[in-house]
Amino acid sequence: MEEELRKLEQEAVAALNEIEREDGLESFRVRYLGRKGSLSSIMRGLAQVSREDRPRLGRLANQVKRKVEEQFNLKKKALATAREIPAARLDLTLPGRRQPLGTLHPVTQVMEEMCSIFEGMGFAVAEGPDVELDHYNFEALNIPEHHPARDMHDTFYVSESILLRTHTSPMQARIMEKHDPPLRYIAPGKVYRCDSDITHTPMFHQVEGFLVDRRVSFADLKGVLSSFLRSMFRKDLALRFRPSFFPFTEPSAEVDIGCVICGGAGCRVCKRTGWIEILGAGLIDPEVLTRVGYDPDTYSGFAFGLGVERIAMLKYGIDDIRLFYENDLRFLARF
Ligand SMILES: [Zn+2]
Repeated sequence: MEEELRKLEQEAVAALNEIEREDGLESFRVRYLGRKGSLSSIMRGLAQVSREDRPRLGRLANQVKRKVEEQFNLKKKALATAREIPAARLDLTLPGRRQPLGTLHPVTQVMEEMCSIFEGMGFAVAEGPDVELDHYNFEALNIPEHHPARDMHDTFYVSESILLRTHTSPMQARIMEKHDPPLRYIAPGKVYRCDSDITHTPMFHQVEGFLVDRRVSFADLKGVLSSFLRSMFRKDLALRFRPSFFPFTEPSAEVDIGCVICGGAGCRVCKRTGWIEILGAGLIDPEVLTRVGYDPDTYSGFAFGLGVERIAMLKYGIDDIRLFYENDLRFLARF
């Protein structure tokens, strides 16, 4: 009987392996596991074996039964799974799906490049809050309440004394308050103005820079700016300083560069003048230095403010600032 059981087990496993379709399962079940199947008929024979052999053979018969049932269920599951995934959908030779890779936004890329150029000249990077106190945004930069210069800024006010910073220059006041010269910092970040058209957005990016030390002159400012522009646009550009006015610098200048598009010959971008306005700068007003306790007879400094979108537009020849904020992937993926 023992031999019979072992043989049956082997036979059953072999028969299961032969089955390739689900409709073969039922006849297998009837033949081996059914009430009139081979296993049942062997187990009925247990009544005839001797008393001492009965428990051992009974255990063995049960083991064989469990094993065959287990194998049967596994086969059933495997065939069902194979039915759910037809062979055609499981073509292992197909190449994998490529996950699209994102890139940094062009404004972020340009801002990072600007920062790394200035860092190369020894400037440290300082970041400050977007929601700023009126004091640092205006007061400390020599723009008292009711000063007409405030009108130039189209400010978003949060409350009477709190606003969204209109430039990153508040960092100049915050840093000078805490540290003594020599200082060499740039402050990159978002700034906000209530303004929107083809060249203005309510939020844009600025890198403001300043340097305070003994005997700092306009020549130092010009040197730093030309060296920055040369690295940024990878060519030597003509620079032109035009007298201007900012409350926190004296003297102040607006700086033009020779048109990067036409090289000075005149085109649509430079409005046929050959020059493009690129930044505002000047020597820090002695009044601003005095407010933070520096002696303006000992120390002097310069400050400048660069528009990041402006630089990105010139660098990549983009003529509408709004393209940066429409999140059109066809545009963004070009960078
Ligand atoms: Zn031009």
